[in-house]
Amino acid sequence: MKDGKPYVSTTNACKLCKPLGAAVAFRGIEGCVPFLHGSQGCATYMRRYVISHFREPVDIASSALGEKHAVYGGGPNLKKGLLNVMQKYGAQVIGVATTCLTETIGDDVGQILREFRAEFGQELKLPELVHVSTPSYEGTHMEGFHAAVRAVVDQLAEK
Ligand code: SF4
Repeated sequence: MKDGKPYVSTTNACKLCKPLGAAVAFRGIEGCVPFLHGSQGCATYMRRYVISHFREPVDIASSALGEKHAVYGGGPNLKKGLLNVMQKYGAQVIGVATTCLTETIGDDVGQILREFRAEFGQELKLPELVHVSTPSYEGTHMEGFHAAVRAVVDQLAEK
């Protein structure tokens, strides 16, 4: 009670989904397109949130998985999505973050990206591909941001 009136207390209201933080970190890299490996709804939610926060258009790509991929794996859609992003955005870097769905079904994104490089690396000029594991049932957008920055340094930094 405050001044005799009941009031609402909110604790940690701003804990948001982990790949959202990763998408913001990837978006801060020049020429980088954030790419969510998961269902369409995750990317739509994050786009909506980030656009209303920064008040400017922000593209976040998605492998747009459906029920079938939840059973058989999302590798083929991830590869198709990467080709689309390369073609449509001319991305220099693509930052792939996992979502709750792809973490739960256990997609090995590192392996899928190795296959992608082997399949298309000869005929196409590939952008830098970075991947980060961001299951949203642990941590928050802040851990997602840090994990993405760490992944960029781990996977792209040279001596
Ligand atoms: S399902 Fe998980 S990754 Fe997708 S928007 Fe919700 S919390 Fe984020």
